[in-house]
Amino acid sequence: MNDPASIARTPEPPGVPRFDLGPRPRLGYTQSGLARAAERRTDEAFLAASEADAAAGAYAIAGELVILRRQDGRLDPLFAPADARALAPSNETVFLGLAEGAARFGVGIEAGAIEALKERPDLQLVDLRSLAVQGLVVPEHLPPLAEAKAMLHWHARHRFCAVCGAATAPVCAGWKRECPACRAEHFPRTDPVVIMLAIDRERCLLGRQARFIPNTWSCLAGFVEPGETIEEAARREIFEEAGVVCGRVSYFRSQPWPFPMSLMIGCHAEARSTEIIVDRSELEDARWFDRTEAAQMLMRQHPQGLATPPPVAIAHHIIRAFVESGGDVIR
Ligand SMILES: [Zn+2]
Repeated sequence: MNDPASIARTPEPPGVPRFDLGPRPRLGYTQSGLARAAERRTDEAFLAASEADAAAGAYAIAGELVILRRQDGRLDPLFAPADARALAPSNETVFLGLAEGAARFGVGIEAGAIEALKERPDLQLVDLRSLAVQGLVVPEHLPPLAEAKAMLHWHARHRFCAVCGAATAPVCAGWKRECPACRAEHFPRTDPVVIMLAIDRERCLLGRQARFIPNTWSCLAGFVEPGETIEEAARREIFEEAGVVCGRVSYFRSQPWPFPMSLMIGCHAEARSTEIIVDRSELEDARWFDRTEAAQMLMRQHPQGLATPPPVAIAHHIIRAFVESGGDVIR
C-alpha cells in the first residue's frame, strides 16, 4: 500500500478539484533494504565472520553527527568495520542486519573525538536531518542510518541499570543490555508519537511552532501517553494544541524518526468543531487551509511563500493524501 507505484489514481467525479502533484516522493528513513537477521544476534561466530567479510560495512555516528568519507566527489557513509573503529575511540557496535547478505553495523564514536574528526580533509560530519533533507547520500542509506543512530543513542542513555543502578553491559550484538548485579535485562526503546491532520470537509488544520523555519506549516504532533490508544492520543493532542474536537481517526502510515528515537504514527482525524484556540506554549499559530492552498504549499507554489515540510518528513505525505482524497482519506 505504501509503494508509490502500486497506488493507481481512480478517475474522480466531476466537480471535485484535481491536483497534479507529480510522482509520490520517497518518505525518509523508510523502506529499509536490510534483513535484520535477529536470529543471528547471539551467534558470535557468525558475527565475527560477517565483520571480517570484505563486503561488510559500518556506519560511524558521533552523537547527532554521521561521519562520511569523501570519495571521488561523493559522500559515502559506509566504512569497513575496522576502519570505523579506527577513526577515534568508539563505544558500542550494533549489528544492524544484512544488505544482500553483507553485514551492516553501527559504530558509536565518542563525542570527544568530533572536533578532531572535523579537521580531517577526507571526512565530513553532517547531522542526519541535513543529510536526508539535502539528499547528500543515496536514500537507501537513510533507514540503516536511522536504525544505527536510534540504537546508539539508546546505549548512550542506558549505561546504568534502572532497577539497581549498577553499570550494564551490551549483549546480543547490541540489542540488549544486561545488569551483572541484579540480572535485569534492558531492551531498546522506541517512543510512539502521533502526527495528524484534522480535516473539516475541504479544509485541513496546520500549525507552526516558533522553531520552524519561516513560513513552514505542518501537522500537529505529540507523544502517545501510557494507557492511551493512537486514536485517543491524536484526538487529545489536536484538542490540547488547537481546541478542535475530533471524531473518527484513521491510520495512514508510519515513519522511524531517530531524533532521538521516535516512531511517527501518521493519522487523519475528522474535525467535529471548527473554532481554533491555540495553545501558545506549544504553537506559534494554527489555522485552517483549504485543499488548493495545501496543494500550493506542497508544490512550493503558494503566493505568500507558505510551505509544508519536505518529502523526507511524514507530514508532507499526510497533507498530500488529504489534497489527493479530501475527507475521503478518513475511512
Ligand atoms: Zn540491576
